[in-house]
Amino acid sequence: SSPDTGTGVSEAREVLQRVFGYAEFRGSQQDVIEHVVAGGDALVLMPTGGGKSLCYQIPALVRPGVGVVISPLIALMQDQVDALRNVGVRAGFLNSTQNPDERSMVESEFLAGELDLLYLAPERLRLESTARLLDRGKVSLFAIDEAHCVSQWGHDFRPDYLALSAVHERWPDVPRIALTATATEATHQEIATRLNLKKARHFVASFDRPNIQYRIEPKNEPKKQLLDLLRTEHAGDAGIVYCLSRASVEKTAEFLVQNGIPALPYHAGLDSGVRAVNQSRFLREDGLVMVATIAFGMGIDKPDVRFVAHLDLPKSVEGYYQETGRAGRDGLPSTAWLAYGLQDVVQQRKMIDTSEGDQAHRRMLGLHLDAMLALCETVDCRRARLLAYFGQEGTPCGNCDTCLSPPESWDGTIAAQKLLSTVYRLQNERRQKFGAGQLIDILLGKKTAKVIQFDHDSLTVFGIGADLRETEWRGVVRQLLAQGLLAVEGDYGTLVLTPASADVLGRKREVVLRREPERVRAARPARAA
Ligand code: ADP
Ligand code: ZN
Repeated sequence: SSPDTGTGVSEAREVLQRVFGYAEFRGSQQDVIEHVVAGGDALVLMPTGGGKSLCYQIPALVRPGVGVVISPLIALMQDQVDALRNVGVRAGFLNSTQNPDERSMVESEFLAGELDLLYLAPERLRLESTARLLDRGKVSLFAIDEAHCVSQWGHDFRPDYLALSAVHERWPDVPRIALTATATEATHQEIATRLNLKKARHFVASFDRPNIQYRIEPKNEPKKQLLDLLRTEHAGDAGIVYCLSRASVEKTAEFLVQNGIPALPYHAGLDSGVRAVNQSRFLREDGLVMVATIAFGMGIDKPDVRFVAHLDLPKSVEGYYQETGRAGRDGLPSTAWLAYGLQDVVQQRKMIDTSEGDQAHRRMLGLHLDAMLALCETVDCRRARLLAYFGQEGTPCGNCDTCLSPPESWDGTIAAQKLLSTVYRLQNERRQKFGAGQLIDILLGKKTAKVIQFDHDSLTVFGIGADLRETEWRGVVRQLLAQGLLAVEGDYGTLVLTPASADVLGRKREVVLRREPERVRAARPARAA
């Protein structure tokens, strides 16, 4: 049982109002703060925009000593510290961007007890000199922000985070609070184990972001689809467009600018000066669109991001949730829009096959991708699916594409048999492997040059799929891939059978497919005043 914290609570509330200017705590903030002020360890899982910062900032102000915040977001430390100083909190940081003079000034402030909060990059904490510095001052708590960076299977792994387990050994009496917006049970357990937080109290907030409208549609003409979304629903809005590669970031940003939409590129290949300028323009100016790789976004606190668009499939549901979570921190209606297609599946499987790491690691990546594909192909509420992935309950939300225009499902057994038997004929009878394009041409009975070259018009399956349109066939291929009834192989995205394909070919298994929607444009709820 926790000690009497009556004074802690009233002091914390007083700080909330006087320093930060907020009337009330939000969600579980008060419970967390109370627990940490009283000296307890905590693991806090709260969605982006949930208000994690106050959970350690207020205890740091209430407890005697300096709160040490470990954060991987070096590029944002200056901003975070400036924002705190603006409200009168004595904050400083130590990271590799400073020169020795700047660093020693912060160090003397720390030793003189002139700081409330000290932000540290994780690699600095590993230095014995830093540890000795902390020994000479008084640390009130350790806050480990973005704690999922300790997860080796996650999407933001930082090796320096592994060393943070030593914090407890060196300073056993200092309370620790680890915070993250990543929420699967597995990551959660991994954080607790690796950071030595088994006995910490866990605070798990609801991961629902009701103001975000989730929409996922097939990728046909991605740039045009994006432009259409921006023009019809988000004219003049700030937003983020995520692309997988640096090249597509550049091309997409250029395309938007050519079409009259103010857009900036951001990826790790850009000069750091350019990145910093683009990031700060995005934060400070209105209505800019940031076209970025996932290198952009962690820790970015821009409340009025009205949309997050993905032009390529995220690698995992956790990544998708994090990235889309950057929309609508202010609570106003926002859109999370994703276009994905067959090529995404082919490309990602290839990336997994050629990725570094052992078999187990590749298998994990494969499972992440499968879960993401299942979310894309679901006929159920996207939000309920998303919450279920994080182990939380949700009922149909009325604010996602599948709720707003429920997709039909259809019996795709025969179509699947036609497709799989075409793959079978090529693979087993002719020892050939082809990608989706050739297979679909065969099914549709198209006498293209390549069909004639390989004599594919003499196959018995030639033309047996003329009852479906090309886009429908692409949907069939994509969904069979998502269901594990078909697999991609090699550099050219050739399609091959899987062990499960046999059940479909042998008529032992039915296949339910989602009908390819006509361009859905979900109705938006009126924007709150
Ligand atoms: P997170 O780190 O969880 O993404 P932040 O700590 O950046 O979230 O908080 C998100 C936004 O909510 C910030 O603009 C913050 O000032 C605001 N906020 C946090 N707590 C409260 C509160 N109790 N009342 C009002 N606004 C709050
Ligand atoms: Zn829904």
